[in-house]
Amino acid sequence: MKFCPQNYRIPDVRMQPFIDADEIWNYLLHTPSSPETVEKVIKKSLAKNRLSLEEVAILINADDEKSIQAIKDGARALKNTIYGNRIVLFAPLYVGNKCSNNCLYCGFRSSNVEQIRKTLSDEELIREIEALEDNGQKRLILVFGEHAEYSAEYIAHTVRIAYGVKKGNGEIRRVNINAAPLDIEGFRIVKQAGIGTYQIFQETYHREAYKKYHVAGRKSDYDYRLTSLDRAQEAGIDDVGIGALFGLYDWRFEVMSLVRHANHLEACYNVGPHTISFPRIKDASTLNIDDRYFVSDEDFARLIAILRLAVPYTGMILTAREPESLRNELIQYGVSQIDGGTKIELGGYVEKEFYHELNKAQFRINDDRSLNEVVDELLQQGMLPSFCTSCYRMGRTGEHFMEFSVPGFIKRYCTPNAMLTLAEYLEDYAPAETARKGWQVIEKNLDDLDEKMRNSVSEKLGRVKKGERDLHY
Ligand code: SAM
Ligand code: SF4
Repeated sequence: MKFCPQNYRIPDVRMQPFIDADEIWNYLLHTPSSPETVEKVIKKSLAKNRLSLEEVAILINADDEKSIQAIKDGARALKNTIYGNRIVLFAPLYVGNKCSNNCLYCGFRSSNVEQIRKTLSDEELIREIEALEDNGQKRLILVFGEHAEYSAEYIAHTVRIAYGVKKGNGEIRRVNINAAPLDIEGFRIVKQAGIGTYQIFQETYHREAYKKYHVAGRKSDYDYRLTSLDRAQEAGIDDVGIGALFGLYDWRFEVMSLVRHANHLEACYNVGPHTISFPRIKDASTLNIDDRYFVSDEDFARLIAILRLAVPYTGMILTAREPESLRNELIQYGVSQIDGGTKIELGGYVEKEFYHELNKAQFRINDDRSLNEVVDELLQQGMLPSFCTSCYRMGRTGEHFMEFSVPGFIKRYCTPNAMLTLAEYLEDYAPAETARKGWQVIEKNLDDLDEKMRNSVSEKLGRVKKGERDLHY
């Protein structure tokens, strides 16, 4: 038997499908749950121990009110004690919506003749990035359909463009990708352009359900998609994002599978996923999906809290698919990144009149606040909006794991960098009222630092006020 190079005790299952539906259903159907066992599992997670699949099943199977509340409280406590009050902000940028797949839930699917197809020209891409920089964005995720035009070389080309656009004090400091799976050579090409995270969602981890929704094109190959982030790792991309599209199959199965996927990556490559995403199906042009597996708001809050406890060292992303009020609630259960000022129509950051036209977007978003409105609301709640990209640029990969496991890491790096990047935003882009609230939040966070760090950060904040940019730890 071959063994993983990273761990001599684990059989080498790289590139092998690692989801066993029977095993997962077995856990779900045969793991009893009681308020006592739930309490025990939560305690284990709060003590910074990883949860087994059986323990995750205990949380999932808890359906009495008291246990569900305990799970949410546990997730909130874990977020507060470990990650603190920071929320990282980013924006998606749709580069092209041509697609040769026919995913039944997606407005970009090949059979949807109502969709207006477009790939941004380099000039249009630059103008979108300038508009994003003018709003104060520093972190982007470039999004693509799956099409022969969107080769690894082309994706790398767009990443280089994004890094090259500088407008005023604006610049994009981290470019993530959400695009089709590549082969190992393709991932290498994209890595060389300096990407942050490569995100690929499995959509549903259930093989039979997957077949039903992915009826044509390259994406109909379940195994190729499931092993895509293994290929990314083999190509040297150790910063990967996983996700499931909730509403395609039983949410309980998807949560167990996401945890299984995280464990697989960690066992084989010594590094778990950088982020987990949990989009819920939203309305899309000519969408016709049976609502049998749609996830209610209550179950959605529950599953986010369970994921937080199950994979405490992984970033969690919640997008503008969800409405403002729900986002405000869900953030408390351990979300670490949200988008703000989101436009998902091709060219939508420049051509504002495109807004909410379903035949120009992949699906309907439900939080259309500007970036500043999102920042303002976070400040109002005493949270610390962050545009930090420091770990990635300083070569500190696996930052969520370090935040989680290295004592003092957050106070040494994350909070100061959040304050410095927020200060830049307040100086360069915020209206006076938001700036006032923002500086108050910065002062409050300064007070919580030890003296040496407080002096150091104060000195750097003074330099930001005088016009220096990109100061970080
Ligand atoms: N084409 C690439 C792929 O399929 O991997 C990029 C993905 S797509 C542009 C980004 C993600 O949006 C998909 O992976 C899917 O999870 C999600 N998505 C698609 N249709 C959706 C809908 N109707 N509502 C919410 N999310 C949707
Ligand atoms: Fe194409 Fe991705 Fe939409 Fe599927 S989800 S139709 S692959 S853009």
